[in-house]
Amino acid sequence: MLQDLSPPLTSARPLAAFASHPARTRGRRFQEPVAPTRDDFQRDRDRIVHSSAFRRLVYKTQVFLNHEGDLFRTRLTHSLEVAQLGRSVARALGLNEDLVEAIALAHDLGHTPFGHAGQDALNACVKASDPTAPAGLNGFEHNLQSLRVVDELEHRYPAFDGLNLSFETREGILKHCSMANARALEALEPGGVGRRFLDKTQPSLEAQLCNLADEIAYNAHDIDDGVRSGLITLTQLTDVPLFDEHRCATLAEYPDLAQPNSGRRLLYETIRRMLSAQIYDLMAATSQALQDQGIGSVEAVRQAPPLVRFSERMAEQSQGLKRFLFSALYRHPQVMATTTRASEVVQDLFRIYNEQPTEMQADFAAQAPVQRAVVDYIAGMTDRFALREHERLTGIRWQGGVP
Ligand code: MG
Repeated sequence: MLQDLSPPLTSARPLAAFASHPARTRGRRFQEPVAPTRDDFQRDRDRIVHSSAFRRLVYKTQVFLNHEGDLFRTRLTHSLEVAQLGRSVARALGLNEDLVEAIALAHDLGHTPFGHAGQDALNACVKASDPTAPAGLNGFEHNLQSLRVVDELEHRYPAFDGLNLSFETREGILKHCSMANARALEALEPGGVGRRFLDKTQPSLEAQLCNLADEIAYNAHDIDDGVRSGLITLTQLTDVPLFDEHRCATLAEYPDLAQPNSGRRLLYETIRRMLSAQIYDLMAATSQALQDQGIGSVEAVRQAPPLVRFSERMAEQSQGLKRFLFSALYRHPQVMATTTRASEVVQDLFRIYNEQPTEMQADFAAQAPVQRAVVDYIAGMTDRFALREHERLTGIRWQGGVP
């Protein structure tokens, strides 16, 4: 039956000349028969959604720890928001929506438990350990770990490790990479996803778009979560030009929202307008850049400077919002207190598993080098599994509550 479906279902809208076309993919690491009803990027997205690393995102911290409240973003809901924003822009610009969705859903798969605190702690542990150890790790980078998840750590298919995703999806997942790790990747896969960091070329527009959609998503939802937690206030936000411009516009149209009991509606409407303004700005500035530089192919995209961008004014406003969130929320004493505890948990786990590898799940305990297995094991943990393991191994119970 399926073989009779013709033509094969592909992206819903015609793709622009500078979009990534599935028919011109650079392919997978292991050859596979084509799927009858899905193109390569659609298939990548489906594999990501069915992976166990994707399911674990629901119990991983974005900013607030998973157990601190049911309404805060987790890495899973964050990834869905990035996919939604990315797809909207992709559709308007004629980019490949399916590739954007695949990259967005996979972009945080390598994140440790406890958000950036966990990543920083794991990075410090690896860097402080014996540099001549056979694991040969150049610190811990979550983008590289996301790639490792889809290339190696998922064990679902009989013929290969990982999800065997297309080059374009893997390239998008590897958003940043240190030069040392890019060289290591290049040695393993010449001309592969590490090459662009050495050549200083750009990835596809779909990958560039996911980077900015990520930023737009977390700037907006961290305001929402920050206010919900009580750590930042609407009054503080009036000092942030991007927020205040849209707050004033909302109040001009709906003066009743100035009532104290309308705070949440005012917040939501302001965030909604702020999101729309950033998305429309991004679409306009990117279209302009594509036009100005006469970009007509993916190859031209790779050689050009980054093309997915905000206007100068919006870039400045967005920076202002980031600076505010950094000082008022991410460095808030209550967030810092959980950050410190989270780092201690990761450090303890790293030390204990390295000393006693058999404390890890059997398939990790059996792997060599030990340090590589320890890093993969810890990075794959959800917040609550890490806390349970920590309590089991040290007897210390996490006392942190809702900030
Ligand atoms: Mg993200």
